[in-house]
Amino acid sequence: MIDNPEMRRSVEELRLTFKSGKTRSGDWRKAQLRAILRLIQENEDTLFRLLESELGKHPVESYRDEIGVVKKSADHALTYIDQWMSPKKGRLPLVFFPASRKVLSEPFGLVLIIGSWNFPISLILDPLIGAISAGNTVVLKPSELALNCASFFANILPSYLDPKAIKVIQGGIDVSNQLLQYKWDKIFFTGSTKVGKIVMGAAAMNLTPVTLELGGKCPVIFDCLPNSDLKVAAKRVASGKWGACAGQACIGIDYVIVEQKFASTLIEQLKKTIKEFYGDDVKNLRNLAKIINRGHFDRLRSYLEDPTVANCIVYGGSFDDTSLIIEPTILLDPPLDAAIMNEEIFGPLLPVITMDKIEESIEFINSKPKPLALYAFTKHENFKKRILAETSSGSVTFNDTMVQFVCDDLPFGGVGQSGFGRYHGKYSFDTFSHEKAVLERSFYLELEPRHPPWSTFKLEFLRCVYNYNYAGMLRLLLGLKRTSNP
Ligand code: NAD
Repeated sequence: MIDNPEMRRSVEELRLTFKSGKTRSGDWRKAQLRAILRLIQENEDTLFRLLESELGKHPVESYRDEIGVVKKSADHALTYIDQWMSPKKGRLPLVFFPASRKVLSEPFGLVLIIGSWNFPISLILDPLIGAISAGNTVVLKPSELALNCASFFANILPSYLDPKAIKVIQGGIDVSNQLLQYKWDKIFFTGSTKVGKIVMGAAAMNLTPVTLELGGKCPVIFDCLPNSDLKVAAKRVASGKWGACAGQACIGIDYVIVEQKFASTLIEQLKKTIKEFYGDDVKNLRNLAKIINRGHFDRLRSYLEDPTVANCIVYGGSFDDTSLIIEPTILLDPPLDAAIMNEEIFGPLLPVITMDKIEESIEFINSKPKPLALYAFTKHENFKKRILAETSSGSVTFNDTMVQFVCDDLPFGGVGQSGFGRYHGKYSFDTFSHEKAVLERSFYLELEPRHPPWSTFKLEFLRCVYNYNYAGMLRLLLGLKRTSNP
């Protein structure tokens, strides 16, 4: 292990803090949650500025997707934390009588949260709310690609949150790898599938539990809709593609599947919606976020350098090198073996894939890795049932996009290549807690058949126990006839 004395001291201090027991108290947890609320309230303008400079996000978008989300999560946690922390009692089978059982949620200990850059505020603070609610000490490693947000956290967090329990460690891949060499009690990672595998490999060395919030290609199944619904549906598609960080969102739409006969109707409506949302001038797309950096900008441009893909552009396609803004772009039926159809796009390019029958979309989606989010616009109940029964994804949203992210009562997480584990609301608390089973027996009444020496009677008796056959037990104890064959 590369020795980084400062990192080592931080980790040791956090371990000592956890050992002291202070983070387990409800008062400590609530004080930290209130401090997060104060932090975002008192620094809202700074956060708006940071998100605008990193990603060109308009304050409305920043509030909707980041600041508001964090506020809502912290409020929710404060409302329910007493309930979450209280032991869950339950009944026991009669044979344990007299006894009691409960499930205690205990903090894991010291957790590592590694974030990505596309929602650099909420993807750090939202998991932190879960980790604090559950009573852990925490290292936060924000993404180096949203450097100003990372520095903001490093500078400001110690003046709001308990610095002996929550630390920000800044850096890139090297720092991330150094951190991964420590023994953590839980790792919560948000990022790409590729790096998720590295994180999981490192965690395996210490059997550390991980939550992997990864990415992938999120499809939209767009069934034929009546005109009356088309306008709203197109707005929701446009929002799910271009409206959140210009498509640089894990649950953002990657591509749309539509029946061939309906494709031009949908595309025309999407074009109208884009004009309504953003106007025409790429350089002045004040309402559209920019691409995070030149590397990603060039990666997106390279998809269109393939002439077989460029030929499919039916709207947009222009790039502004200075502002790193890419015009909302629609492509009709790019080749299925092109990079754009096989890598996570993570940008404002929208392939529309046509099929003869919309039902074929199920097979198409099933031929790809399981997505984080699947969206379907349809009014057909049977088709909805088929989608739910025959596909697998982190979430399914019918007739809208992205909104599942802000529902505290829905688990947020992936399946297969899009990750595993879940968070938000109570799921966050559970993600950062170990559920400890506690059973307490009395010394009265002993179930002798559980102990040797063995006999046919004991076998019979245990059969009755495992079958909850209380009448049979009673008959055996009273020496009456057999209840079943040995
Ligand atoms: P990334 O995997 O490149 O980086 C994520 C984090 O891992 C960063 O903090 C980075 O410093 C660190 N990292 C990068 N390379 C590493 C390495 N080799 N070893 C150790 N650590 C390393 O991802 P990104 O570019 O920041 O984010 C984009 C990806 O994240 C997309 O795939 C997107 O879908 C996904 N994502 C998922 C969610 C979700 O909630 N499921 C949310 C946002 C983004």
